[in-house]
Amino acid sequence: MRWWGWGEEDGHVAAMPDAATALLRDEIGVDPAAPRRHHIALEDVVLPGPRLPAAAREQLSAALGAEHVRDDREARVAHAVGRSYPDLVRLRSGDGSSAPDAVVTPGSADQVRAGLAACADQRVAVVPFGGGTSVVGGVEPVSEGFAGVVSMDLRGLNRVILIDRTSLTATLEAGLSGPQIEQALAAEGLTLGHFPQSFEYSTVGGWVATRSAGVASTGFGRIDELVEGLRLIAPAGEVDARALPASAAGPDLRELVVGSEGVLGVICDATLRVRAAPRAKRYEGWWFGSFAEGREAFRVMEQADASPDVARLSDEDETRFSLVFASPGGAVERLGRAYLRARHRESGCLAIVGFEGTADDVERRRVRAAALLRAGGGITLGRRPGELWLGSRYAGPYLRDELLDRAVLVDTLETATSWSDLDALYRATRDALRSSLVGRGTPPFVMCHISHLYRSGASLYFTFMARQDDDALGQWRAAKAAASEAIVAAGGTITHHHAVGRDHAPWMRAEVGEMGLELIRAAKQRLDPAGIMNPGKLLPA
Ligand SMILES: Cc1cc2nc3c(=O)[nH]c(=O)nc-3n(C[C@H](O)[C@H](O)[C@H](O)COP(=O)(O)OP(=O)(O)OC[C@H]3O[C@@H](n4cnc5c(N)ncnc54)[C@H](O)[C@@H]3O)c2cc1C
Repeated sequence: MRWWGWGEEDGHVAAMPDAATALLRDEIGVDPAAPRRHHIALEDVVLPGPRLPAAAREQLSAALGAEHVRDDREARVAHAVGRSYPDLVRLRSGDGSSAPDAVVTPGSADQVRAGLAACADQRVAVVPFGGGTSVVGGVEPVSEGFAGVVSMDLRGLNRVILIDRTSLTATLEAGLSGPQIEQALAAEGLTLGHFPQSFEYSTVGGWVATRSAGVASTGFGRIDELVEGLRLIAPAGEVDARALPASAAGPDLRELVVGSEGVLGVICDATLRVRAAPRAKRYEGWWFGSFAEGREAFRVMEQADASPDVARLSDEDETRFSLVFASPGGAVERLGRAYLRARHRESGCLAIVGFEGTADDVERRRVRAAALLRAGGGITLGRRPGELWLGSRYAGPYLRDELLDRAVLVDTLETATSWSDLDALYRATRDALRSSLVGRGTPPFVMCHISHLYRSGASLYFTFMARQDDDALGQWRAAKAAASEAIVAAGGTITHHHAVGRDHAPWMRAEVGEMGLELIRAAKQRLDPAGIMNPGKLLPA
């Protein structure tokens, strides 16, 4: 991946439509003619001198082979941060202060075990690194209190161990990426169906360690629902949660490891539930008069067990944004404007619903969902908006690089709560983000969508943008803290799928309580007595 952003060097670059440039100018005061702020050159990134003790380097080289212990500039910069907004702001400006002392690249579970033993012996901290797409500071090396810190890049663990077509499971090594998995499964007529927006780069181990959610997770694809078994290698031993369809043998150890964010050990492989690759797909756009109207229609549909696999409802601002940004050729915009004109309305809300499966199944479910959406006030826009969304669902991150060039603060955050409390949580979070950014003199654009529907509630996904001020990181920190406080006060979860990492750790106490923290700490103490595994993440200081 480009060290300063998203995608491959010389790969895809997002082009900003003129209408989008105008929207940024009108809404948040970004001057289209202002000079671009490109990232600095790789050679100019300032790195701390590597301080891995010679004995640690020797022991790691003996465990993994010298070629699997790298401390060159490129490797250290590529593992210095994840892919959050503050990560990229820092790196693009040349701040590589969080770079690991070395990057180790085991190629097998045995090498992971040996590498962890060497690090425990030498008091070297270890950061498990999958695709490095964390947006919560989850892969940022922390070395205080240790003799050094290494990033353990797990992409060498890339074997498909077993595809069991009869049981519909696949046992996969942790470093396999989304495309690698889907390619292997497609050859067998299967799919995992886990499609986070970071799909192109994120890995099995990262998904399991963060409890990630794919865009189709209303129907299938939340990783915690797909894990049948897994193996964690920790400094003090191993947890082998056998792959079983169900078990009544005490607390489920899978649940201890899923979401453990590298603080307990390294997930080396996982057995995941797979399904037949869909033979039919149908994606559609719908319009609602308001966010509240659409939300209620989604609730009724979900509670009638009639939900599609993908269900997203944008609020009025995100709808406005989508019409301009995400509508190549203006097809959605034309449909949306026609809808508004016909109903003499100023605004409305766009929903995307998607069904996948056999042709019969898709048609039967579509008809049922459509009846409920219509009864809830929705108007169908047909397939075009749904297909446009499907075709561009991985495009957003590329656009972020373009926005950073234009000195735009752009970030996302997500939460979830019950249907009863969803509106209050929506308003509280949106207002907190707005107040924080307005308070610094940078009028923001805050937008949200509902996705990931559950019988009892749903998630809210916010995107916020503002002109960067002179202290871009301070501006972001203030907005993030304001939103997090508001989420906790309104009873939402501090994260629905991005995980805790370093950025949400200060609010973990509010999330799980003091005893909850003590239980996680006790498990860590037993599995990782020297405390070398991913320090500074998940647990508050
Ligand atoms: C543009 C963009 C879009 C995104 N979209 C989504 C989305 O739609 N849904 C979603 O849920 N998330 C999303 N994310 C967040 C991120 O992609 C997920 O958290 C993903 O699961 C991380 O996977 P990864 O392999 O990149 O893990 P990394 O970023 O490398 O690591 C994430 C955490 O897991 C730990 N870890 C990684 N591998 C292992 C392992 N084998 N054993 C133990 N610990 C390990 C790391 O130490 C770290 O704490 C997005 C991020 C970006 C940048």
